[in-house]
Amino acid sequence: MHDTPDIADRHDAVCVIGAGGSGLAAIKNLREHGFAVDCYERETSVGGAWNWRHDRSPMYAGTHLISSRPLTEFPDFPMPDDWPDYPHHSQMLSYLERYAKHFDLGAQIWFGTEVVAVTPVGDGRWDVTTRSTGGGSSRIQRYAAVIVANGHNWAPKPLVVDGYDGFRGQVIHSSAYQDPQQLRGRKVLVVGGGNTGCDIAVEAAQQASTVWHSTRRGYWYAPKYVFGRPVDQVNDLLLKWRLPLRLRQWLIQRTVRLTVGDLTRYGLPEPDHRPYESHPIVNSQLVYYLGHGRITPVADVARFDGGTVELRDGSRIDPDLVITATGYLPRFEFLEPELLDIDDDGRPDLHLHAFARRHPTLAVVGLVQADAGLFPLAHWQSVAVARWLRLRATDPVRAAAVQQKESVRPVRSWARQHTVPSTRHWFEVSHTSYLRALQSLLAELEPA
Ligand SMILES: Cc1cc2nc3c(=O)[nH]c(=O)nc-3n(C[C@H](O)[C@H](O)[C@H](O)COP(=O)(O)OP(=O)(O)OC[C@H]3O[C@@H](n4cnc5c(N)ncnc54)[C@H](O)[C@@H]3O)c2cc1C
Repeated sequence: MHDTPDIADRHDAVCVIGAGGSGLAAIKNLREHGFAVDCYERETSVGGAWNWRHDRSPMYAGTHLISSRPLTEFPDFPMPDDWPDYPHHSQMLSYLERYAKHFDLGAQIWFGTEVVAVTPVGDGRWDVTTRSTGGGSSRIQRYAAVIVANGHNWAPKPLVVDGYDGFRGQVIHSSAYQDPQQLRGRKVLVVGGGNTGCDIAVEAAQQASTVWHSTRRGYWYAPKYVFGRPVDQVNDLLLKWRLPLRLRQWLIQRTVRLTVGDLTRYGLPEPDHRPYESHPIVNSQLVYYLGHGRITPVADVARFDGGTVELRDGSRIDPDLVITATGYLPRFEFLEPELLDIDDDGRPDLHLHAFARRHPTLAVVGLVQADAGLFPLAHWQSVAVARWLRLRATDPVRAAAVQQKESVRPVRSWARQHTVPSTRHWFEVSHTSYLRALQSLLAELEPA
């Protein structure tokens, strides 16, 4: 028989789950708003996905930022001026480590401690069950609020095709790809047209004997630089000028035509959607290696058949290594799905992709996909969560009024509505519209 562990009441303290960039921002901003914070991190140090020292990290040796430095850094903690436009993943880790040190966040974090259950007590508070990853008994502590910052790049989205189990070649998800040595001299099929799929196809082009790149559709492959500037900075300018979507789509289309040219000339399918209707794919080298015949674009995978792969156009190829860059799915195993209004597909429904609709003391930080870096968004999300919790505690009447007002904020004002249907676009936002919505919420939450 197991003993029920005692419940330690942490009174007004807030629990933060995860010490990646989003969790660190949450600790810092909650603390600045006067809250005591306990953060639980299952790994042994900060950095989350960017901490390539941890086995679970999805980073590969050649990962550099896709979003550029000024649009990725926290607004109150700039990256060094002498860093490149697109820092390496090791610089990202050192940046997050410095952030944690600068704001003295270490004492709030319990490392090697996994949150295994979060259950509502019924009065707005939460019982959080944690377990040491090194073994040992579990503990339950009671918190006034819970901020989930567990990241959404941990659970690989599986490739579901007939014949998968009987395939004689090696199949790995991109999360298990680490080093170009894994590609050397092999016949490699990379599945997936997202940023990771394109990056790995480019690395394979320099190492493998043959490279096929299979995508479900054509995409707008933007170069990393246009007019000598990182492409997201140019996009940011167009958004700040508030150009209508149609005009921005036309401009991006013209820019891609002028820089990369007609994508079908490289054997790529014509995009079946307009720019801004899929997550931006930024890669200057893919087209280069297509043009040099080092990457062969191929159709979507239909099925695996022994030693071969059959494609949707009926052709067959015989890779000995398949890398599925199929992306990731969000996972909240420690929460009952209804707490985040998670549907049968596993998609949560949160106000601003952050606030649980029926549980005012439960929020998620970092669950967005933007056309720019994540950390500025995670910063302002966590400021909004902290202000919301403070207002709830100090002025419940006004907090209820704000909640009522927010409940009618149209989703189209902060989330991308017209996107290609795919799990990849569940949390897609335009960073400027999203930040505008957060800014107006922050104004509502200011103390009277
Ligand atoms: C290849 C690749 C390239 C990327 N490029 C960019 C880019 O250019 N720009 C950009 O902005 N973003 C990029 N990203 C996205 C990247 O995930 C985010 O920048 C950032 O890591 C998200 O931070 P986070 O804190 O929300 O999540 P994470 O970094 O995933 O951190 C979550 C933390 O929560 C911990 N955790 C999870 N569950 C539990 C639990 N139950 N108990 C305790 N701890 C738990 C994890 O161990 C982890 O430390 C990229 C991602 C990948 C994979």
